[in-house]
Amino acid sequence: MADHRSNFDPKKAAEDRKQEMKDITDRLEQGVSEIFQSEKYQQFLDTMAKFPQYSLNNNLLIMMQKPDATLCQSYTGWKQMGRFVKKGEKGIRILAPAPYKMEREQDKLDEKGKAILDKDGEPVKETVQINITAFKPVSTFDLSQTDGEPLPTIGASELTGSVEGYATLFEAIKEASPVPIGFEDIKGGAKGYFHTEENRIAIQEGMSEVQNVKTAIHEMAHAKLHNMEAQKAREDGGQTRSSKEVEAESVAYTVCQHFGIDTSDYSFAYVAGWSQGKEMPELKESLNTIRTAASELITAIDEKAQALIAEKEQAPQTLEETKDPEISFYVAECSEFHSMGEFNEKLTLEQAVEIYKQIPSDRMNGIKAIGFNLQDENILANEFDLVTGGRLQQQDLKELVPQLAEHPLVQKAFEDVHKLMPELKPEQEKDKEAEKKEPKKQSVRKKLKDEKAAEKLKKTRTAKSKKKEEER
Ligand SMILES: [Zn+2]
Repeated sequence: MADHRSNFDPKKAAEDRKQEMKDITDRLEQGVSEIFQSEKYQQFLDTMAKFPQYSLNNNLLIMMQKPDATLCQSYTGWKQMGRFVKKGEKGIRILAPAPYKMEREQDKLDEKGKAILDKDGEPVKETVQINITAFKPVSTFDLSQTDGEPLPTIGASELTGSVEGYATLFEAIKEASPVPIGFEDIKGGAKGYFHTEENRIAIQEGMSEVQNVKTAIHEMAHAKLHNMEAQKAREDGGQTRSSKEVEAESVAYTVCQHFGIDTSDYSFAYVAGWSQGKEMPELKESLNTIRTAASELITAIDEKAQALIAEKEQAPQTLEETKDPEISFYVAECSEFHSMGEFNEKLTLEQAVEIYKQIPSDRMNGIKAIGFNLQDENILANEFDLVTGGRLQQQDLKELVPQLAEHPLVQKAFEDVHKLMPELKPEQEKDKEAEKKEPKKQSVRKKLKDEKAAEKLKKTRTAKSKKKEEER
């Protein structure tokens, strides 16, 4: 693929993309038309036919009371379908026609429409039944307010599975989205929505990665194609709900296919479900819009993803530089030559004190010591004794490596070790006995330490300058 990149031809790339979009939408058309032929689709239609067709006014009443309603049915209607309304659910009030008959006394008319008179010249009366058209409020319930036998579905009701590189892809999708995307607990079973007034997208929390990506792109397609301005600008005065849903899902299917995410189990059925006829008029009319919108979204997501990947490649260095300082402790039987006698490292201070106490002070390997090892990117030197031969080494450290002595972790270590070993002699107070006994050892130790510090400084500096070069 290397020479594909070096011979990048924008015209060819655009043609390739066009062809890819056509291939994918062709597969979509094929898949949707197969759904129409399936037995499952017939069952689905049969069930849908059982749902009442509400009047425009009633649909408005439903929308006002339960904006996320999808399928509404009366209490008994649900019962007949093997579903029941959940406890505590409040009905959506709509108006049902309630015709009634009334008896009325009126003048009897002859064939010509003239009142018939009796022998006294008075109009003859008769009682007639008349039909009065009236409405009474009744309750209907949305699918989300019910439980029981599942309704026949075509295709998967929710996509499962994970997406390779999900974190980066989803971040790129969010950045490429025309409006902000957030997760929330959406009541009523919807997987996502595009809020046309607040111009934002919400996605149901707790779904699979595949479903999250698919839903995000579906809602992005709504935000891009079906926002209020786009709809107002149309000559036809705005699209129908079914046309919008077919477009959004087709765009989502196409973009997902491009990124290697297969949503056909869900998308084919969704498009079929919203199509008003087996000829798929919505899909056929919208093919160009779908292909263009999908291609634009792919380009935008690709760009953002590449930028994110490039950023991440830089990241390890930044991570290393901001690594939190760490401190560990060692115990040496001989503070001058760690290779002589026992030497334990990478300990907690408590462990170190424990081991230190177990080493008899009269061992001949030298003066036992507790030391610390500080890992801090900003300080070159990192090792020093805390306690040597029963004495704190804070003063020595201040003189030799002041920046280490001032480090908060080191200061805390000195405090803590004093708490754990209150018997330690204060450093300022000269231990004359020890000085008398080990004058030589003391001086050798100091000398060695100076050398060690110098060596370490040299080593770390070389390492640092090497690293700088690699960065270039
Ligand atoms: Zn939608």
